[in-house]
Amino acid sequence: MLSERSERIFKRAKELIPGGVNSPVRAFGAVGGIPRMIAKAKGSRIFDVDGNEYIDFIGSWGPMILGHNYQPILDAVINTAQNGLSFGAATAIEVEMAELICSLVPSIDMVRMVNSGTEAVMSAVRAARGFTGRDKIIKFDGCYHGHSDAMLVKAGSGVMTSGVPDSAGVPKGCAEDTLTATYNNLESVQRLFEQHHNQIAAVIIEPVAANMGVVTPVDGFLQGLRRLCDEHGSLLIFDEVITGFRLGLTGAQGLYRVIPDLTTFGKIVGAGMPVGAYGGRREIMQMIAPVGKVYQAGTLSGNPVAMAAGICQLKILKETPEIYQHMNQLGDRLRKGLQTVVKGGQVTGIGSLSCLFFTDTLVTDGTTAKQSDTAAFAKYFNYMLENGCYFAPSQFEAIFLSNAHTQADVDCVLNLAEQYFKS
Ligand SMILES: *Cc1c(COP(=O)(O)O)cnc(C)c1O
Repeated sequence: MLSERSERIFKRAKELIPGGVNSPVRAFGAVGGIPRMIAKAKGSRIFDVDGNEYIDFIGSWGPMILGHNYQPILDAVINTAQNGLSFGAATAIEVEMAELICSLVPSIDMVRMVNSGTEAVMSAVRAARGFTGRDKIIKFDGCYHGHSDAMLVKAGSGVMTSGVPDSAGVPKGCAEDTLTATYNNLESVQRLFEQHHNQIAAVIIEPVAANMGVVTPVDGFLQGLRRLCDEHGSLLIFDEVITGFRLGLTGAQGLYRVIPDLTTFGKIVGAGMPVGAYGGRREIMQMIAPVGKVYQAGTLSGNPVAMAAGICQLKILKETPEIYQHMNQLGDRLRKGLQTVVKGGQVTGIGSLSCLFFTDTLVTDGTTAKQSDTAAFAKYFNYMLENGCYFAPSQFEAIFLSNAHTQADVDCVLNLAEQYFKS
């Protein structure tokens, strides 16, 4: 497979952009080789500047749930853009988005739009601190909640891959208020609640962890978190930036029937435009400026073009329940098929989120996820890439399916995997 043009552009990129990328997960640091420079995408396919075609299993890390370059969304963007790209003033389309999110997700009475998942989490945490008058937050080893200071502690995926436990530049004081518990381990949470009595503002979690590979919650774990938060007067924040509108219209909270106080969204909610959102109980959201004392703002928040894209995508998901059926079936087929051919590994996941770990140890949390043989992953990744399947260049990311993927796409992966593990 040719990669001359990608190589040439990447060489220039490294001179001008740190690591040649605008987000570390795009670099091929963990798998070797150079990132392919992407020129365009359509449906389940992505094309690089050397003219190579791949079946894409990243989907821009989740937003492209209807497949790339989906015509109705493209039309919505173009039509809306004709009225102006941004006004920095209140618009009707923001109200339409808020109505849609509140009607789809029962735990959300009010919502605020922002520009990224990072911003959504940062703001939700601030709201939780403002509401409870407490400072400390509990997060889980291996869960990623964006790159705000307080959340860069045991932060999964990109951080996990580069082997940096925390980030430089995060003040000690910021990290001190972030306590870390073990995913799927209620006792580790209970202990922190006891040690820091009446100081925990919130527990934040990816209800299905998708930034340490994919790790699903064991029975009763999320329910147990709800109970602990209630007992200690703390808020429960579900970071559904990946799972929101992916594991069904009501996300992981609907699937597992656990109601958080606050929820964060990103990725799918913007359909590929830079959008995030946070929302929840009315009395908490009333804490946000200009009604309340928790300040949070954004010049481009609720951007009309971005709202048009997101609304279009959410409406299609709402009106077409077969989409989730289709993706879940493909996910099941992928997981079952991979599990039968893989040697020395295990397949995890739920719905349209999957992961292949290269370890026999049962993966239930950050520590066991890290036992995966990342060199074996890198070899497998490069084989798949060379054969036209584009997976995330890190062990600790999900395999994303979209509605544009077909059974033939999945079977292509299964056939390649069978050959790979045979030899
Ligand atoms: C991607 C992600 C974020 C951060 O979103 P950005 O839009 O990249 O800032 C936060 N939480 C989770 C669970 C994510 O997967």
